[in-house]
Parts: sequence; C-alpha cells; structure tokens
Amino acid sequence: MTTPLGPGPEFDRIRIIERALGSLASGLGDDCAFLPGGWCASTDVSVEDVHFRRGWIDPEAIGWRAASGALSDLAAVGARAESVLVGLVAPADEPAEALAAMMRGAGEAAASVGARIVGGDLTAGRELVLAVTVMGRAVHPVRRAGARPGDGIWVTGMLGGARAALLALLDGRPPDPRALGRFARPMARVAQGEALAAAGARAMIDVSDGLAGELGHLAAASAVGVEVDGGLLPVHSSVFAEAARIGEPPAVFAARGGEDYELVAAMPPDYSATEVAGVPITKVGVVVAGTGVRFRVGGRVTVVGGFNHFA
Ligand SMILES: [Mg+2]
Repeated sequence: MTTPLGPGPEFDRIRIIERALGSLASGLGDDCAFLPGGWCASTDVSVEDVHFRRGWIDPEAIGWRAASGALSDLAAVGARAESVLVGLVAPADEPAEALAAMMRGAGEAAASVGARIVGGDLTAGRELVLAVTVMGRAVHPVRRAGARPGDGIWVTGMLGGARAALLALLDGRPPDPRALGRFARPMARVAQGEALAAAGARAMIDVSDGLAGELGHLAAASAVGVEVDGGLLPVHSSVFAEAARIGEPPAVFAARGGEDYELVAAMPPDYSATEVAGVPITKVGVVVAGTGVRFRVGGRVTVVGGFNHFA
C-alpha cells in the first residue's frame, strides 16, 4: 500500500523514485514506515547551509533540532519514541568537542521524549550532515490517509515562530529570542501525537514544511478537501513583526512557516479540547468532500504553498 503524495517539485522527484523502485519498495508516503509488531521508523536528514548555518545556532542546537525533526515524524503517526541512530558527516578538521556537543544535543532531544541514542556512524565529508533515524512503537498508528468529510482540522501549539527566526537570521538581524527558541530547539510533539491517536485521530502529519503544504499532503492522501479559517490559526507571538516587514497577513505567514514541528490532525467531529498533553490545541478548519486546501483569510480564499526543497 502506498499513500498518495501531495503536489510540489520535491514530491515529483519522490514519485519518480517510487516508480523506479516499483516492487522493491512498499508502504512509502507516510511520516513513518509501519513495520510488524507496531514498530514505526523514519529518517530525516539535516544539512549545513540547507537546514541551518553554523553562525546561527551552537553545535548542541544543531544536534537537538536534527533529532527533534526526525522524532517529529514518530509523533505524526502517534508512536512512542524509543530509539535514535545518528549518521554524522563532518569535515575532518571539525573539533571532537563540537561533534560531542552535537551528539549531546541530539541525545537531549531524544531524552526529552523518552528515547535514547542507540547507535550511528561518523564519517568525514565536506559539510555537516546529520542523518537521524528514529524508531518507536504505535498502539494506534495514524496515517496521512483516513480523514473524512466532517472531521475537524486541529493543530497543536503555535505556528510561524521558526520562520520568523529564519527570516531575521537570513537578513542578518538578531531574531526575537522566542522565535529563535522555536528554530533552535523545536519540541517533537510525541506525547501529543500519542494522545491524539488515542483520542481517535483519523489522519495526522507534522508541520515540517508549513501547515499549508502539510494539509495538501493530508488532503491528497485522504482523497478529501480541507478548508482552513486563517483567523483561527494559532500564530506565534514573534510572527507579527516579521509578517509586517514582508507585507504578509500574519496567518498566511504562519501557514507558510516550516520547522515548527507542531502536529496537524483530522479529528472526529465530536472531538473537543483546548490542550493535549500540556500543549494548547486549536481547531482551525474542517475536512470537506473534494480535493485541495482552501485557506480563508479576511473573507478571501487564498492558496498558500509550503516550503519546496526543490523549488
Ligand atoms: Mg513529517
């Protein structure tokens, strides 16, 4: 079984790879691979000058955010995090203390969700790369497919903080400290994913490339449409100044922001909550019959793209 992927140049490439693999692969297209015994596994790669720059965050944060980004995919399927392996590529002259600090950061991110580092690999290369593999177990595995018309679209935490930090960093301005915290030390919502799964989540995905894009994947996988009310989005407090700077409505800014690692879930119509496992949760829209994502801001319907790695 393969879960249909959403639109975009990165996913066009993945579709070509899927076709090339044919029967050599199975079960592609979700946040994790689902293995026998309830095991879930995923890999996430963090590359210097693509996902981070050294001048922006310290080595511990480089390790933390690489591990959290991977652990977030366990959260997205409702799995409990158990084990983490880190493939680390670093220039030959990288000080050992810096490597140790990166791994300590990765270990702390794993520990923050109850997992631990169980192995990895270290090799020399031109730039820093952290390839993080995570394994966990799901009692109620949740896929991207499964949303039904009438379900509510719910999002954990606040959106747009990591993007607010990123724009400031790219401009060479000091970011809002609250935004930098979101960028440098994102929290994988593992406990929240488990709780949502137990509460009957029908489909779920994590926000690594922006809410709008992630909802596009959820809609495509579930063969449904999604309507989001921008006025309901939980916008991170750091967003307003950065959104004004580039002339975007704050809700659009937040919906385009990647790397917040919050969860988006399609929950049954009767689901109601203000928090899940200690984190606020907000209903931002509904699942409808049809296709695609319609995003309403101030009475207008906007199409909002996420971050495309190959755009
Ligand atoms: Mg994901």
